[in-house]
Amino acid sequence: MVNEKMRGLGACRSVIRELFEYGKKRKTEIGDENVFDFSIGNPSVPSPAIVNETLTCLLQKKDAVSLHGYTSAQGDAGVRRAIADYVASTHNATVNPDLIYLTVGAAASLTISLSALTVAGDEVILLAPFFPEYRVFVERNGAVAVPVLCDTKTFQPDLDAIRAAITPKTRAIIVNSPNNPTGAVMTKESIEGLAALLSEASKENGQPIYLIADEPYCELVYGDIEVPYLPHFYANTLICYSFSKSLSLPGERIGYILVNPDAEDATAVYQAVCGAGRALGFVCAPALFQYMIPAVIGKTADISIYDTNRRLLSEALTSYGYEVVNPDGAFYLFVKALEGDATAFCERAKEHELLLVASDSFGCPGYVRISYCVTTEQIQRSLPAFKALAESYKTEK
Ligand code: PLP
Repeated sequence: MVNEKMRGLGACRSVIRELFEYGKKRKTEIGDENVFDFSIGNPSVPSPAIVNETLTCLLQKKDAVSLHGYTSAQGDAGVRRAIADYVASTHNATVNPDLIYLTVGAAASLTISLSALTVAGDEVILLAPFFPEYRVFVERNGAVAVPVLCDTKTFQPDLDAIRAAITPKTRAIIVNSPNNPTGAVMTKESIEGLAALLSEASKENGQPIYLIADEPYCELVYGDIEVPYLPHFYANTLICYSFSKSLSLPGERIGYILVNPDAEDATAVYQAVCGAGRALGFVCAPALFQYMIPAVIGKTADISIYDTNRRLLSEALTSYGYEVVNPDGAFYLFVKALEGDATAFCERAKEHELLLVASDSFGCPGYVRISYCVTTEQIQRSLPAFKALAESYKTEK
């Protein structure tokens, strides 16, 4: 006998992973260059040089026993202080290093935070379209995911719909800006509206509704777009950060949770975070990568390459007749499928060797996600296939 819920999760991969695996197989059949794989958000730009320089220096200079030894369960104190200092000075904010918990990336940050805040039967609002793994993380310990669709013109939160979805059981809402899969960045007006709404609803509920800010893409924005610091707007905020995307280090698994010191019950929330980390076995994030953080925090890979890809792809697809959501951040393009059933559209795209992710599991049917964290050359080579796919629909009419 096994836990059937876990077995189900293991036996049935996410749509993204399924397509990623299909892509690997297809590449062995017809050659890497003939498959246009836009399935997964694996950064295509190398880490900035300072990452490897810092790691090399640590390996050469730091005593090997302490370098590879356990740190405190919540993360090394000096590293937590460096993160706190950086966040405080960047955002002119109050940050307490003793309310920071080092994790193995945003996925762990989220699953720990959700375990810390919810019990079975609690409800967590997800703003659709959302990263599909949220549902897995929320439902893991019996909490209930409540999807609320964003305004599909702007992909900003629909405040009336959120208000209508809140119940006395609502414990938290997850926001993700810049967003996977739309690239939308929440505006200051949206954040102010959301904060006012959550404050009012928390008062009515007699307990806080926590804002869980999933922010692995917060440095990946284009032009003069800014990502506001959410604790300035809403005190009961937990930030789930990851270095996976900003530093192109998704395989190394390093990130953190930051509990806002001004949150009601901040100490209790942090203790629950430490307890959830312990219960889930997420203590002592990889030590080498923790020690790297003070030297690299705030640096990013060369994101101008993503900007080039973003422009190239959105301009070309628009000219072929696709309806494209203009992304202000992250490295995804959200595109209306050319038929009602996005899964059927993706199957047809596969006939052109285009691997696109159907949006159904993001809670917003009828679209596809294109991860443009690939080489610019791959995008250039894929354009005739996108054009042929669009034309195949036109000739049907
Ligand atoms: N949250 C979002 C919105 C993501 O897109 C991802 C990964 O793609 C994650 C969380 C997980 O990030 P990590 O690899 O740091 O666990």
